[in-house]
Amino acid sequence: MHQPKYCLFYDNHTMKSVPDVGENFDVQAFTERVKRCGVDYLVFHARCNQGLAYYDTRIGIKHPSLKYDLFGKLSEACNKKGIALAAYFNAGISHEEGLYHRDWTTLYFDGRSLREPRLTPHVRTMCYNSGYRDHLIAMVKEVVSNYAIAGLMVDCLISYPCVCPVCVREMKENGIDWSDLDSVTRFSEASAIRLAKEIAKEAKKINPGLLISNNYPSYEKLKDINNYYDVVCLPASDGYEFLPVMAHYVRTLGDLPVINMTGRFYDWGDFGGLLPEEAIKSELLYGLANGMRPNIGGHFHPRGDLETAVLDRIEKIYTELQAREEWYDNAKPVTDICIVYPKTIHNLRNDMELRSAVRILCELKQQFDVVTLSSDWSKYQVLIFPDSVIFTDEIARRVKTHIDAGRSVISTGISGLNIQKSGFELEKEWGIKYMGENDLNPAYFTVGKNLSSGLPEMPLSLYSSGIDVQVLEGTRIEAILIKPYQNRLWDGNYAFFYNPPQEITDKPALTINGKVAHFSYKIFSGYYEKASVELRRLFSNVLNTFHSAPLVKVENLPAFARVFVTEQPNRQMVHLFSYIPEMRGNTPMIEEGVELHDVKIILRNNDKIFSKVYLAPEKTELSFEVLNGYTKVSVPESKGYSLIVFEQQIKIEI
Ligand SMILES: [Zn+2]
Repeated sequence: MHQPKYCLFYDNHTMKSVPDVGENFDVQAFTERVKRCGVDYLVFHARCNQGLAYYDTRIGIKHPSLKYDLFGKLSEACNKKGIALAAYFNAGISHEEGLYHRDWTTLYFDGRSLREPRLTPHVRTMCYNSGYRDHLIAMVKEVVSNYAIAGLMVDCLISYPCVCPVCVREMKENGIDWSDLDSVTRFSEASAIRLAKEIAKEAKKINPGLLISNNYPSYEKLKDINNYYDVVCLPASDGYEFLPVMAHYVRTLGDLPVINMTGRFYDWGDFGGLLPEEAIKSELLYGLANGMRPNIGGHFHPRGDLETAVLDRIEKIYTELQAREEWYDNAKPVTDICIVYPKTIHNLRNDMELRSAVRILCELKQQFDVVTLSSDWSKYQVLIFPDSVIFTDEIARRVKTHIDAGRSVISTGISGLNIQKSGFELEKEWGIKYMGENDLNPAYFTVGKNLSSGLPEMPLSLYSSGIDVQVLEGTRIEAILIKPYQNRLWDGNYAFFYNPPQEITDKPALTINGKVAHFSYKIFSGYYEKASVELRRLFSNVLNTFHSAPLVKVENLPAFARVFVTEQPNRQMVHLFSYIPEMRGNTPMIEEGVELHDVKIILRNNDKIFSKVYLAPEKTELSFEVLNGYTKVSVPESKGYSLIVFEQQIKIEI
């Protein structure tokens, strides 16, 4: 089975009206150029979301202006040049087939077969229980049988809620409430998963060594059939908060490779966009520093025009990354704390409180994962539950085991509550009793002397909502709420807009019981709202009391910089980043790295003895000192990215 290292992905959704598909395509020149970029894994469309095939099909609809077997020629050329080729199928969208077979399309919950807005690829989607299901499987089998391919990427198996007669009948037979949108969406997800499994089974019957990748509906529910995970993020349109969450999360789902796909363009369907070199490179480096393999997405020009400027940029970037390949190859992230967020993939992709928690830990240079119930939590010293993690029996049981092992928990907002019980699931361990919602608006707080380091001596804002708690015996109040003169409201005559802090209440803002700290407000939501450095500082003070020897410490390194640690046998690598996305109108952009000087990196030794520290790939040695279980080096200069390698002494037995 191929192990993808440096990947290229080509989107090739071509409108039926394009009259000259493939006319300029020089397959030898194209594959030669791809090979020169150092690409070993190429994903290319067998059938696009227009429902049109780019190979000689007896089952599907070949693009009407394509006069030869484009995918077949590509497959031959790739095989000769040692490039592993994967066939792409858009499974959820197939417009041409949907036009001819309206009974194959999704009948949406609102009774329409076309969605709004009309001008997106998702205007018409497919039903996974209709005749389309067998048709799609047959096309996949046709491609896997007829072409020497290494992989299969199945895209867009999204849980579109379908109430077509076939789905309604099946829901009725299975006792599913077809009149409830959530139930129908869950049914659609189950149908998508069943189809994904069927496709994988049939494809592997023909080619057992085939790499399978589905990126919908959920990584966790497809981990038994996927051979790797694809994370797709275009920061110019998805923003810069998405990849960090996915990078720290997807790698925890078993031991599968994770591929990090960015794009050469600003958005899908943007044929004329070519991002600056540093914008593309910084995304790929973020992935490599977190154990993800690089992939660059592009648009194939339907005529087959060779896009030399794009390939030049890719070659330059990949050549630079490949110079450090020996330190990236099979390197695993090293982490010792985690954010626990056992929610749906939709929450993991979009929730602001999770993004904020990830951002804060990155700014604090902590080495962490984002985990759900699908991973083992036993290796982590501290579990962090941001803002709204409602406890189930299973979460409570696992947290209790963690606490009983002498390890720490930080929870915030309503995390830890059990809704049915209207209280904390682990009330004794939390050391507080839930008393209902807190109504201060705005809420201020002040911190006691134990945890006030670095904080200004004044009432500080929380920028979020919270709960009232009553402290149980033995629990310490470390921060307390301050009420405003008046809540923010309209009283019929006055708009109470100016609400300064008036007096300290008896209500806790932060409690600590043993090794469990609880913030009664949603501080991560507050940080997302206003980027309050004070909220981050207080969180950091709490974390430091539980985790006084983090994996990495730094000096003279700004908050915007990032530090990640990976390891291979006998060495650890510290990845130092200094890129800042800048909002330029509507779009965040990175055009260049920021220069840093004299950065101190202090890496925890654990049981290792580092005998050499150097910058890769040049192998420029850095002098270092060992103190209190850490190895400290100074990086004289860095711009954008530096890779610092800490090598262990290797004992040679004679
Ligand atoms: Zn249906």
